[in-house]
Amino acid sequence: MAHPLEDTLIAKQITPTAMRLLVLDVLVQHAAALSLADVEELLGHADRITVHRTLKTFTDKGLVHRIEDGSGAVKFALCEPSCTPEHHQDLHVHFFCTRCRETACLPTVAVPVIRLPGTYQVQETSLVMKGLCERCVNDLPTAAPTMQ
Ligand SMILES: [Zn+2]
Ligand SMILES: [Zn+2]
Repeated sequence: MAHPLEDTLIAKQITPTAMRLLVLDVLVQHAAALSLADVEELLGHADRITVHRTLKTFTDKGLVHRIEDGSGAVKFALCEPSCTPEHHQDLHVHFFCTRCRETACLPTVAVPVIRLPGTYQVQETSLVMKGLCERCVNDLPTAAPTMQ
């Protein structure tokens, strides 16, 4: 029987294991990017080393990408299906909400090509914008914090 999470792993040449399926499930369920600690907590305090290894495999295989949003913890978000280990196509803008501290991928907003002077060799470009997310800008008084 077809299993969508298993298919997602197989499509990225990742052998499905129980832990990998659990971590992927958590990432699929959450629109916002998650840190290692978030994933660990959402899995009911799973072994940090195993979760860390799983996220590293996912990153290496082009299933997730890392986001450094300035909050101190690296966060992970699912990549576009077209991402491969050689060619991550997630050069999109990320948005960090200073109120709920959630980081969102904005896949339709591309990071502009920035030319640097001289012989600087760029290895990575990331663009994190900060402010209030759509939900927080409405300032719902009943809005629950990210991690209750
Ligand atoms: Zn927010
Ligand atoms: Zn992203």
